Amino acid sequence: MLAWLKTPPPLRKRVGMRVNFKIKFMFEEYFEAKKRLYPQKVKGKIRSLKNALNFIFLSIFFFTPFLRFDRGESAPNQAIMIDLPNARAYFFNIEIWPQETYYLAGILILAAVALFFVTSLFGRIWCGYACFQTVWTDIFIALERLFQGDRNERILLDRKNNFKKYARKTLTHASWIIVSILTGYGFVNYFYDVFSLGENIFHGEIPANALGWSLGIAGMTYLMAGFAREHVCTFMCPYARFQSAMFDNNTLIISYDEKRGEPRAKAPKDGDFKNRGDCIDCKQCVVVCPTGIDIRNGLQMECIACGLCVDACNNIMDKMGLPKGLIRYDTISHLLDPKPEKKFKIFKARTFFYGAILLVVSALMLYSLIAKPTLEIAAIPDRNPMFVMLADGSVRNGYQIKISNKTHEDKNYSLSIIEPKEAVLKSQISDISSLNVGAGKVGEFKIFIILPADFLAQNDEGRGLVKFAISDENQQKQIEAVFISR
Ligand code: SF4
Ligand code: SF4
Repeated sequence: MLAWLKTPPPLRKRVGMRVNFKIKFMFEEYFEAKKRLYPQKVKGKIRSLKNALNFIFLSIFFFTPFLRFDRGESAPNQAIMIDLPNARAYFFNIEIWPQETYYLAGILILAAVALFFVTSLFGRIWCGYACFQTVWTDIFIALERLFQGDRNERILLDRKNNFKKYARKTLTHASWIIVSILTGYGFVNYFYDVFSLGENIFHGEIPANALGWSLGIAGMTYLMAGFAREHVCTFMCPYARFQSAMFDNNTLIISYDEKRGEPRAKAPKDGDFKNRGDCIDCKQCVVVCPTGIDIRNGLQMECIACGLCVDACNNIMDKMGLPKGLIRYDTISHLLDPKPEKKFKIFKARTFFYGAILLVVSALMLYSLIAKPTLEIAAIPDRNPMFVMLADGSVRNGYQIKISNKTHEDKNYSLSIIEPKEAVLKSQISDISSLNVGAGKVGEFKIFIILPADFLAQNDEGRGLVKFAISDENQQKQIEAVFISR
């Protein structure tokens, strides 16, 4: 370090440059530098479909929290909401409590099977049309185009260093930041009552949690959709890695019809496409691709099946007076053997297999949600002391009774002992025939059970079971708890 400081500055600079160069060289040897992409605008049916879907998905994302659902006074009236402070998730009349996380597991299984099902039929349709990364990147690219122009204009702009460039870049980033903040706000609306949060924001009293989360999500949106873009799909998303395992020869994929397109050559001046392929090597399919790949090299992991290259190539085919579909959604079977019977089939063995799993899991979920009990009870025995021997030889155990009232009205419950008949139930502070639990609340009550000495003399194993019943006007629920007598 000392030797480095003693080195004259010009020499230090030269050595530093050499070190930098070596490090750069070392990385370039192993990693190909990723080129910046400038996806070109394209018009076509798929682009219009994507625009419409983006609009629908964004509307769903931003406006769903405004939907109301009346649950009475004791619960929020937001139709879909995750109420973290009260540990509840609401989806219309479905309400999930923390101890019911198995529903979450069911929903995740359902989502995974649905994804496998769709992928086995339509390939990466989720990635190309509905994934958050795709939708938000699409919006960010549209804003980039709005302020900096289309592909060629953006390439030229990046080569210059002038006021126009910085002004346009500033406007682009400002618009990205606005969209990111709106996204963060849209996200936290699922965790707070949207109207109360709006009022708080209006009065400048944003809860710290809401502010933190919305800024965090805004920051992630800005980074992921503004900068990381296709790298998320290529390097970060695990789904891209394993989904080809779900493909078969009858899965719809984006395909370049090599038999028809090759040998490729520049567009013939006389318009004669005899003895050559239909591809005019215009690279329109490449420049519109948001992941920057050439689909003519075959199906690649980077392809998110967005279909923009289909639009681009169809436009070129139109101009050339050739049939559309040189790049299209097709199956491997049909590409290899273009007979009508080899065309994409929606009904195949996998469809029925995944369909059956989806149906069974959905039916089970629906049944368990409909038949969900509105009353839960748990008896937690005292640990210290585990039992108390009373003066008359009887034994007393203490329990903490937790009653979950999962309805939206206050309830009075009565507690009784079912077995053994000889047991005596006592509470020093609560009236066990009228235990009041507020709507959507968990009531905790301390009770004692005493077993008389003569009963214990006949059944003295030191450990047994006692059965409680808790009832309201509509239902009765029974549970068992351990009774320790020595
Ligand atoms: S857009 Fe069509 S014609 Fe142009 S290079 Fe791509 S495949 Fe060939
Ligand atoms: S190759 Fe075509 S479908 Fe695949 S990502 Fe690129 S533009 Fe989209």
